[in-house]
Amino acid sequence: MKQLKNPINRALVSLLPWMPRGLVWRFSRRYIAGETLREALDLVAALNQSGMSATLDVLGEDSTTPAQAEASKRAYLTALAEIGRRGLDCNISVKLSQMGLRFAPGACREIARELAAAAHSYGNFLRIDMEDSSVTSATLDIYRELRREFAGVGTVIQAYLRRSDADVRALLAEGPTNLRICKGIYVESPEIAFQGREEIRASFRALLARLFAAGAVRVGIATHDPPIIAAACELIEAHRTLPAGYEFQMLLGVAERLRAELVRAGHPLRVYIPYGEAWFAYSYRRLRENPRIAGHIVRNLFRRSLPPAGYTSNGGVTS
Ligand SMILES: Cc1cc2nc3c(=O)[nH]c(=O)nc-3n(C[C@H](O)[C@H](O)[C@H](O)COP(=O)(O)OP(=O)(O)OC[C@H]3O[C@@H](n4cnc5c(N)ncnc54)[C@H](O)[C@@H]3O)c2cc1C
Repeated sequence: MKQLKNPINRALVSLLPWMPRGLVWRFSRRYIAGETLREALDLVAALNQSGMSATLDVLGEDSTTPAQAEASKRAYLTALAEIGRRGLDCNISVKLSQMGLRFAPGACREIARELAAAAHSYGNFLRIDMEDSSVTSATLDIYRELRREFAGVGTVIQAYLRRSDADVRALLAEGPTNLRICKGIYVESPEIAFQGREEIRASFRALLARLFAAGAVRVGIATHDPPIIAAACELIEAHRTLPAGYEFQMLLGVAERLRAELVRAGHPLRVYIPYGEAWFAYSYRRLRENPRIAGHIVRNLFRRSLPPAGYTSNGGVTS
């Protein structure tokens, strides 16, 4: 784990496992819809009403047994069925490690296929999230396999990885592709990943430029960083890309003002919504993976601004 420069952040990360869940929930609930599918879908419905779409992330640590992977799969299948039943504008985002990629890659492929087939049967879409660099190639391989069979599948490219430009070029050359571009959340070494803020931004812009120029099926622009958003808007205008060809994507609870401005300007915007019983482990893991988030959490802890204005509260998981 990277050393934290700020002593308050460092203390917070080390104390987290011993903090009462209620206190951790106080600062986590800005970023998490709740423990249940119902809470998540009520939030999706409110976002849909405000002109935004959503993607659901059923929280879970890396699965270490087939039973855990199966349970995660079932949670996503139920979510797809309920999204369909309620007629919501919402797809799913899935981490392959949760489906067993690290210990049973063959079974994980089967689960991913089952989820893609279920998404297809509901006219919905499966996004395969990108995890740390130990699984980048395996994740792209599964994406390649699925997209040969299903149109409604996409994955993620991390701008901080040095390999990403080559990956995007290869994917575009192989056929229609649907990619979300993000900076990348995991701590990676300088040998394989850009470390500087500006070089990561430059890589992000270059990847977007390549995708817009190639007319990718849909470009997901997953960032809250204003200079990248401004660059994306210029590309959209320059290529006269229709709203069906791109969408901005943001994490629940982050940059809500910017989010509202983009929606007002007529851009499609999707909110990434984590939910589930594993919210505590998720909050803890995010902090360990990327200690910079501690700064945001400390601010939220003292700011006391809780669920995004206009949404129902996330009852049921209160302190
Ligand atoms: C929809 C979506 C999906 C993602 N999927 C993946 C994935 O599959 N794999 C992966 O590795 N990463 C993923 N990420 C995370 C991404 O890689 C970045 O780590 C994260 O988005 C922060 O980067 P940024 O581009 O917003 O820039 P930053 O420079 O980190 O942030 C820009 C500004 O946004 C605000 N901000 C950013 N994050 C937060 C926060 N948590 N709380 C409060 N304010 C914040 C701050 O004001 C900050 O100054 C995803 C991000 C989004 C939005």
